[in-house]
Amino acid sequence: MALSGIQIYKLLPQTNCKECGFPTCLAFAMKLAAKQVELSVCPYVTEASKTQLAESSAPPIHLVSLKSNGYEVKAGNEVVLFRHEKTYYNKPGLFVRVLDSEAPAAIQAKIAALDAFKVNYVGIDLTVDGFAVASVSGNAGVFAEAVKTVRQASKRPLILMSRDPQIMAAGLEALKGETPLLYGADADNWEAMAELAKQHNAALGVIANSLESLADLTEKIKAKGLEDLVVDPGGRSFAQALTLGTQIRRLSIKKNFRPLGFPVISFPGDAGNPGLEAMLAAQSIAKYAGFIVVDTTSPAALYPLLVLRQNVYTDPQKPIQVQPGVYEINNPKPEDPVLVTTNFSITYFSVANEVEGSGLPAWLVVADAEGMSVLTAWAAGKFDAERIAKAIKGFNVADKISRKRIVIPGHVAVLSGELEEELPGWEIRVGPREAVDLPAFMKQAL
Ligand code: SF4
Repeated sequence: MALSGIQIYKLLPQTNCKECGFPTCLAFAMKLAAKQVELSVCPYVTEASKTQLAESSAPPIHLVSLKSNGYEVKAGNEVVLFRHEKTYYNKPGLFVRVLDSEAPAAIQAKIAALDAFKVNYVGIDLTVDGFAVASVSGNAGVFAEAVKTVRQASKRPLILMSRDPQIMAAGLEALKGETPLLYGADADNWEAMAELAKQHNAALGVIANSLESLADLTEKIKAKGLEDLVVDPGGRSFAQALTLGTQIRRLSIKKNFRPLGFPVISFPGDAGNPGLEAMLAAQSIAKYAGFIVVDTTSPAALYPLLVLRQNVYTDPQKPIQVQPGVYEINNPKPEDPVLVTTNFSITYFSVANEVEGSGLPAWLVVADAEGMSVLTAWAAGKFDAERIAKAIKGFNVADKISRKRIVIPGHVAVLSGELEEELPGWEIRVGPREAVDLPAFMKQAL
């Protein structure tokens, strides 16, 4: 049962030493009760208190981490139902499924192409996280070969899918030293599967057709000493998946119900229809999968899913930023114009893409505005004449150009007078308000 902030406070040293980063032990206790900080941050908790607090301080959804060859996919550790309450931490792992009945050459080609698939979105490379290999042949040797083929084509983490412990054991032979997910354990095979997962340091998918039987099964498996579990409550339709996923999340977060406090795995690919699959996967991203297994290999389906996932799992409290500096667009020469903007990623990419697409060369100076867009940064005092001048001087822009002329965004036209004072000898031009109008402005006014 979760402890209240006051109950936790009574177990802390109560010295208010501030080493945890909070002004008082009570403030720390309140954060701990809200699952917004780790107990380990306080170095002075006694062993006796630690034991009492362990249950309360453990994240309501257990963190499960799949690893292979330097890759890691984490799911769980979430502390809120809705992103606006704080943030979501671990993006659901997106895995593409192959069947062991497919020809090895086809598996190899499919996996190699997906392994190389990359989407650059506001400066971040988005990729699928790994692959699921499903046994449909019912043959241990065929399954083991398929796993080997996948492993040769990609180093990313794997999910092995079979309910037969012998087939699973054969597949695991090719994955020594890795942490895959074994899917899965059900009411009939759970003991053998739990044993395999323990032997191979693997996570275990637990399958049941109701929340009651799922909770019952996870408790039995936990009693065998296995903690890294992933749950499949069964629902495959939109309504079932949404209802079950939400119930599990609510029970974990609001009731601290440990038997279901694990990441959920979803299988949109089971819809058997590419359109439905994409929509089910999108629903799983929003609510509340930890691992998502799709069958599609189509970039047209994967691209929007990766972007959606990135957006949902971006911390709204931390804007995505690009590195402040001088960016060269279309090989500018000394006589080409100098444009200025902020280091909010979307602002930067809007400006850079418009100029790049126009074919016109320019120097783009990105000032440090703490990741805010132009108007927001200006209103917050993070994009003023002083900061712009500091960027121009700090990045030695004058050394790269032959004409001292900069273009500021139209939204901050009001800064032009102050900038002339900050940058004597420079011509200050006011550009358009919207990035889309930059090419026309550059052609006509510069
Ligand atoms: S580090 Fe521990 S003892 Fe010190 S203020 Fe924080 S909670 Fe209290």
